[in-house]
Amino acid sequence: MRGGERRREPMTARDLSSSLRGRPARLQLPACPASHAPASDEGTERVTGFSSWGGAGVRSAIMQVCWLVRKDKCCQRIKLPHLKTVVIGRGPETEITDKKCSRQQVQLKADCNKGYVKIKQEHLGHWSQGLKISMQDPKMQVYKDERVVVIKDKYPKARYHWLILPWDSISSLKSVTKEHLELLEHMHAVGEKLIQQCLDKDSLEFRLGYHAVPSMSQVHLHVISQDFDSPCLKNKKHWNSFTTEYFLNSQDVIEMVETKGKVLVKDGTSELLKLPLRCHVCKQHQSTIPQLKEHLKKHWPK
Ligand SMILES: [Zn+2]
Ligand SMILES: [Zn+2]
Repeated sequence: MRGGERRREPMTARDLSSSLRGRPARLQLPACPASHAPASDEGTERVTGFSSWGGAGVRSAIMQVCWLVRKDKCCQRIKLPHLKTVVIGRGPETEITDKKCSRQQVQLKADCNKGYVKIKQEHLGHWSQGLKISMQDPKMQVYKDERVVVIKDKYPKARYHWLILPWDSISSLKSVTKEHLELLEHMHAVGEKLIQQCLDKDSLEFRLGYHAVPSMSQVHLHVISQDFDSPCLKNKKHWNSFTTEYFLNSQDVIEMVETKGKVLVKDGTSELLKLPLRCHVCKQHQSTIPQLKEHLKKHWPK
């Protein structure tokens, strides 16, 4: 008989690692249950989606093998060969379908002799999934409420550069509809609040907006100060993505959704990234990034 299903808090990779670590190697595999609840049943899963997994090691006379076994079924145990790195995540193998879990969510390396499994989660997943990972990381969160979370841009292009992301998965502006109007307005309001709370709000200008053709896979509102004083601003693409029409004002996006029901991005918008460098304040042309950076100092607050 299997014990009653205990409702658990979502497990993090660290929890998973500690539950695997030091586990004796004579674990029994659970019996295969009649019903196969999908992994996504765990509605509260956030980052890893592995809350329903545990570890089991099985010793054999010839060689030692470790298996990762789902607590509620035995059909899809995953073999963890001795000292070989196994990468798992969302996919048919785990039956995890939650998009917040990347296809390469965790690296597992079992040491069958010592009886533990090492877990590594950093630097995994497709880079475009990075935001989804960052937004779930409490260390990155500057503000959160029931609808949105704010993080600092990992590679700020100015003295202040925040990203506001909805908890709901919205892959890009393309999938935004009238249903999202309130959310967009809320995101804007949160952005305004951040600016109000900024110590340099009186000396710096700010813009709130979206990249017309974003590279990251979750809609995010940029709140960025207009000094563009940052070592992370390195190339023409960076510059033009914030200073040409490639950067859509939050207010304009909201209006467009109100009137047209969606966000229309003009053909050739990506080409704007190749435009020659031009100062966003005085419109003067600059031939190189270092030259532009030097020029920008003129516009900084005294
Ligand atoms: Zn962006
Ligand atoms: Zn200028």
